[in-house]
Amino acid sequence: LSKNLSISSDSLAQSLNRGFSTETGRKLEGKVALITGAARGIGKATAAKFIDNGAKVVVADIDQHIGEETAKELGANAAFIACDVTNESDISNVVDFTISRHGKLDIMYNNAGVACNTPPSIVDLDLQVFDRVMGINVRGVVAGIKHSSRVMIPRRSGSILCTASVTGVMGGLAQHTYSVSKSAVIGVVKSMAAELSSYGIRINSISPFAVPTRFVLEEMSRLYPGVDASRLTEMVQNAGVLKGANCEPIDIANAALYLASDDAKYVSGHNLMVDGGFTSFKTFNF
Ligand code: NAD
Repeated sequence: LSKNLSISSDSLAQSLNRGFSTETGRKLEGKVALITGAARGIGKATAAKFIDNGAKVVVADIDQHIGEETAKELGANAAFIACDVTNESDISNVVDFTISRHGKLDIMYNNAGVACNTPPSIVDLDLQVFDRVMGINVRGVVAGIKHSSRVMIPRRSGSILCTASVTGVMGGLAQHTYSVSKSAVIGVVKSMAAELSSYGIRINSISPFAVPTRFVLEEMSRLYPGVDASRLTEMVQNAGVLKGANCEPIDIANAALYLASDDAKYVSGHNLMVDGGFTSFKTFNF
């Protein structure tokens, strides 16, 4: 019996070493990524990070002028295409553009999103504003998942990312309309993970907190009119709870790189909080 169970030391070493790698190279070598809302902010930082890691990136954004500037700045491995995520044919078109340019789509990052100025009470809610925000933040994400899956399913591989928010987990933190839209993003990701897993496709969301991008600074300047941008940036960063660190777009880009790459090959249906511990922080004010 002991003879039958004996394992050669070579095959044991081989087996135990499987899954361990000391590789430190570029994590997205040869990959093709499409990022919505990549003209600036988190999307732009992620595009730069992906390119640094060997990917070719399609920058899709509603803002043609800044989008073209960004693609130029990012260099030969970036291309811009105009896209309004509320328009399904635009989404379909950017996916087809990516396929015709690069032959495949490995990573879809549904990142475009907007904030909105909603009233403190549900009683005063303008449902047209609600529909507009849902159209971009939720329907736009769903359309991105639909059309990227259309080209990923036949290849039985791909990684889909979506930007949610801490507000989608906590509710009530910011305006209710925005919070609802980001809760929906987290829900969509969890709902889609089962079907997509059966094709070898992973889908995850990232929930940032307080990144001083234009989106947040515009919102802050509505709340604090007359306060200059550097003071508003300071106020956003002071809202965090992690001492000695401020959230920057690169922190979200690093999380996106992890989820997009094979480092996260067994991670799907997950919402990764990048919030410096904010949503775990409890305080009692007796
Ligand atoms: P940003 O304003 O710098 O970038 C948003 C980008 O989305 C812009 O380039 C904008 O032109 C684009 N966009 C807006 N509407 C669009 C549409 N209909 N179609 C295509 N593109 C459109 O802000 P950001 O902070 O980089 O935001 C990126 C994502 O991160 C958003 O989904 C936002 O909700 C989310 N988020 C941001 C924070 C934060 O603190 N900054 C926190 C949580 C979540």
